[in-house]
Amino acid sequence: MSDKDTLSRLKEINSVYGMFHDFGGEWTDDTKFLFSAKDNLTSIGFETCAGSKILEGYRPVFDATAIAKMKAAGGKLVGKTNMDEFGFGTFSANSAFEVPKNPFDLDRSCGGSSGGSACAAAVLEDHVSLGVSTGGSVCCPASFCGTYGIVPTYGRVSRYGLIDYGNSLDKIGLLAMDPHKLSEYLPVISGRDPKDPTSCAQPDLKLEHRKMTSVAVPKEAVEGISDDVLRAFEDALERLKGMGIDVEYVDMPYLKYAMPAYYILATSEASTNLARYCGMRYGHQDGDLTLGFDEYFTSFRTEYFGDEAKRRILLGTYTRMEGFRDRYYAKALQVRLGVIDAYKTQFKDHDAVLTPTMPFVSPRFEDISAMSPVENYKADFLTVPPNLAGTPHLNCPCGYDGNGMPIGMQFVTDHWNEDQLLTMAEEWD
Ligand code: GLN
Repeated sequence: MSDKDTLSRLKEINSVYGMFHDFGGEWTDDTKFLFSAKDNLTSIGFETCAGSKILEGYRPVFDATAIAKMKAAGGKLVGKTNMDEFGFGTFSANSAFEVPKNPFDLDRSCGGSSGGSACAAAVLEDHVSLGVSTGGSVCCPASFCGTYGIVPTYGRVSRYGLIDYGNSLDKIGLLAMDPHKLSEYLPVISGRDPKDPTSCAQPDLKLEHRKMTSVAVPKEAVEGISDDVLRAFEDALERLKGMGIDVEYVDMPYLKYAMPAYYILATSEASTNLARYCGMRYGHQDGDLTLGFDEYFTSFRTEYFGDEAKRRILLGTYTRMEGFRDRYYAKALQVRLGVIDAYKTQFKDHDAVLTPTMPFVSPRFEDISAMSPVENYKADFLTVPPNLAGTPHLNCPCGYDGNGMPIGMQFVTDHWNEDQLLTMAEEWD
């Protein structure tokens, strides 16, 4: 296939699904593979906006480490994928640019916030896409689009060149239809990077193909999920038993505190990260310079931040304020430790904790716009806990509802144990 054919095909596909914020380039027959990356990863040659108008026009002069490593392995970056503004969302509907459409039903969401990446992984042949998860943004869209998605242990992959949402939570992962691609490219992007002090060299990412022998299913995780998801999940449990895996229902009461704690911690970190967008360094810089700094800063941010970004600045500033910090931020940190502890307890007897990924299949856009912010946040109650714990996790497609919409399940393993997730994905496929 010539460059032109492939580019025009991408253009055609993008005009239907809207997965790319920016795409293009040239590639030849000796290009080993094509990949895309979420638009909050800096990349040479593409506009990088993280889904925000405030960064419109920003063309980074460097590649994020994960992108540089994919390129060094023979990959060609073909596009930057649409996402919720700065990762703030579950449906990619908070993008300031195009909202990607679900390949199974164009009236529905791809999930978020790495929605464009899931869409690209689902629609393009042999494709792998870099996504980012702060609180579920790889597994959620993977489950809505019927792809595999893996998020490694916090620190496994360098965050250098990632536009921060919540630094203590952000992790770069991969999405693909073919789980072998996760095993192939996770080692490529992993490893210590002197440019990111939170990245780790040890322990090594060893692919030993260790099989899981037992999984814990928290009873709390099957409460309040839709009948279709529950049916597919229970069928999957039977299939796992047939594969020789013990399935045990367990109590993990701490899980229910994870979602509120996450939204306190994530918005606290986000509100400080967003302070750098002051109209003087990145993207738009076209405010009225006759104004004083405070007025300039306010008018600029009022114009270019979307509603959800503003909501999170308010929430996160409030929870960090003197007098409220102990009541909210410090308490949320305690819950975070409790969640880690709850997982560690299960990992003494089980290889993984298994839940449905999302409580329902991808909703229609009209239903998303009718959701309140809290209803929206509640949708994340199963994807947030492993992100709070920094543990690796995987979405495996596990069925469809009556309308043919995909359903996913989420495996969570102990820190640094990506091997069993990758082995499970390959076995399951
Ligand atoms: N839906 C979650 C949020 O809005 C998670 C997003 C993410 O992982 N970037 O914060």
